[in-house]
Amino acid sequence: MKAAVLEAYNAPLALCEVPDPEPGKAGAVIRVEANGICRSDWHAWAAHWPGFLELPHVLGHEMCGIVEAVGPDVKRFAVGQRVIVPFSGGDGVCSWCGDGLPHICDDPVMPGFRSWGGFAQYVAVDQADRNLVVLPEAVSFLAGAGMGCRFMTAFHGLTERVRLGAGEWIVVYGCGGVGLSVIEIASCLGAQAIAVDIGSDKLALAGELGATATINAADVDDPAAAVRDLTAGGAQVSVDALGIQQTCTNAVNSLTKRGRHLQIGMTNGQTGGRLEVPIDDVIGKELEIFGSKGMPAQNFPAMLRLVAAGRLDPARLVTKTVPLEEAGAVLATMGSFDTLGFTVIDRF
Ligand SMILES: [Zn+2]
Ligand SMILES: [Zn+2]
Repeated sequence: MKAAVLEAYNAPLALCEVPDPEPGKAGAVIRVEANGICRSDWHAWAAHWPGFLELPHVLGHEMCGIVEAVGPDVKRFAVGQRVIVPFSGGDGVCSWCGDGLPHICDDPVMPGFRSWGGFAQYVAVDQADRNLVVLPEAVSFLAGAGMGCRFMTAFHGLTERVRLGAGEWIVVYGCGGVGLSVIEIASCLGAQAIAVDIGSDKLALAGELGATATINAADVDDPAAAVRDLTAGGAQVSVDALGIQQTCTNAVNSLTKRGRHLQIGMTNGQTGGRLEVPIDDVIGKELEIFGSKGMPAQNFPAMLRLVAAGRLDPARLVTKTVPLEEAGAVLATMGSFDTLGFTVIDRF
């Protein structure tokens, strides 16, 4: 099969022929129809996580496609079915999987990270019965690819972690793919979303996706103060979708008392995975801090119903599609944070 192979960090991907994957006994092989290029792919490509990948490697963890082959133990899926492959799968063995939380599995199944991913024509997925999700006919492959990582991480964060309520104010710092996902989902849930970024094109898209207000952080001295003014005291929920000190601090400073902060943006490695949090405010204002990583496969139906009903559309975030040959060039541009929305590979 054809694959875009990561042979060295910060270098162009090598487009080459590699052996077709085979399904394990409980696994499946998926013919990839669409695969999003995520900020996490860029983090991995730029060597922000030393030791995380074994090279050569094939990135790509936002994929959907058609089941091409299944192992003898697979019961729930058959050749020809349309499926999404959530990146945060589980082994089905550890206590977290037993508690229905496979997205934080001790030995996770993560195509694109722990095994070869969707920058290729085919992908093998272990434990297919628990780690694949049926993609309804009414939902396009582009929308399906949009749901494999950023969109579902945002949905899980808002619905299962901070439990965003209708009418609440939520402020989102950083309107890249995951930040815009938060805006669209928050709006669908009836919350009032404020988008903060320094890119006017990103803020314009946030407005189209339902943001109640937008703030260009380059135009104000203190974005958090602007948020507190807009919300008459502070937002109930803040999201740092970027993962740098400035956005994390501003997000927490935007909260009202008893506010909930959701951290989705990962650090860029330069801070050793650490960011400071104003801990006296956490105490004094009784704030809560949450993380969100992926989403359990069994929670997909609730999100897919909203997509099939037209209430949510991850495909609105897809601003560009590219052939596999261009995946590496897209990664190489992501260091400038200029990309808008999702770029999805749809030709293999
Ligand atoms: Zn597990
Ligand atoms: Zn991702």
